[in-house]
Amino acid sequence: MSNKMSCEIIKDILPLYYDGVCSDDSKKMVEEHMLNCDHCKCELDRMQDEIKVPKSEIQKYRNEGEVIRNITNAWKRTKVKSFIRGIIITIILFSLITLGYNRLFHWNITKVPTSVVEVTQVSELTDGKIVFHVELTDGYALNETIYNIDKDGKFYVTPVRPIVKKKAQSPYGLANDFDFIDIEEAEENNGGKKINALYYGTPEDNILIWKKGMNLPKASEEIENMFHFE
Ligand SMILES: [Zn+2]
Repeated sequence: MSNKMSCEIIKDILPLYYDGVCSDDSKKMVEEHMLNCDHCKCELDRMQDEIKVPKSEIQKYRNEGEVIRNITNAWKRTKVKSFIRGIIITIILFSLITLGYNRLFHWNITKVPTSVVEVTQVSELTDGKIVFHVELTDGYALNETIYNIDKDGKFYVTPVRPIVKKKAQSPYGLANDFDFIDIEEAEENNGGKKINALYYGTPEDNILIWKKGMNLPKASEEIENMFHFE
């Protein structure tokens, strides 16, 4: 009877004993009781077993937590990579757009066809330069003229503008102006190679301005004054 009573009390204290939070007296009482009571000893063993399972479960959850953390980290890394990739793509796109814009609006890569070019008043200055007037009749600006000499000594003055052409701003822009070529200087710049002819345009599409043996009229005083700056 007294033993039975003790078992009930021990059963109540056992969880505290297991957790190590009971008083020293209670602890002593439990341990003394265990020496003679297999039932309560079994009860304690059972509690310990019960705890063991959750412990392994905890480890399992901890591992899962690790997995989740790894996934999270991987995701963060992926996010950083995506972000960098995004920046790179943006830079490339921006460059392509800028390049495209410049190609369209700024690069002088379109040759003006001679069908819209009028070359007039070809004459020779007293210092030997060949002077002529160029007018583009399509109303658009001329951005630049580029020079090329081919192997036969043909000199080309090629009018160029961007793909998207602009309206001519003033009647005195390059689209409506006098231009001159210093043949001697051009020959020097070309390693002394003789120039036999001067064209406005390209090898495929051009207007002849001068060629060897052609006698050009002397420039008028007005034109002469335009090209003398002393
Ligand atoms: Zn007992």
